[in-house]
Amino acid sequence: MEARFEDAFLKALQKHASIKKLVQKKVDLILENPVAFGEPLKANWQGFYSFPVKRNFIIIYLYCEACRKKGDDAVVLCHDCAEMPDNTVKFVLLGPHDMAYGI
Ligand SMILES: [Zn+2]
Repeated sequence: MEARFEDAFLKALQKHASIKKLVQKKVDLILENPVAFGEPLKANWQGFYSFPVKRNFIIIYLYCEACRKKGDDAVVLCHDCAEMPDNTVKFVLLGPHDMAYGI
């Protein structure tokens, strides 16, 4: 897997530095199998996946192979999808569960 970390994700990680190790563990898990472990999001976040870090706190990511299979690259903000290898996992955001529904 090819891991990419978006700026927003890295900023959130700095903000929540106390759970950095926990996040790293989850990132490793996601990279093992992005589709098996993630939960696909809907509506505004169609095409994105979420994975729980701890109670009410999630990682949001994209998996480019999945983007393309579902044609989600037409709806998701995977702006440079076409330039990424299939096995790219993009870590987009990190935060409270509600953020996925508030944006
Ligand atoms: Zn993509």
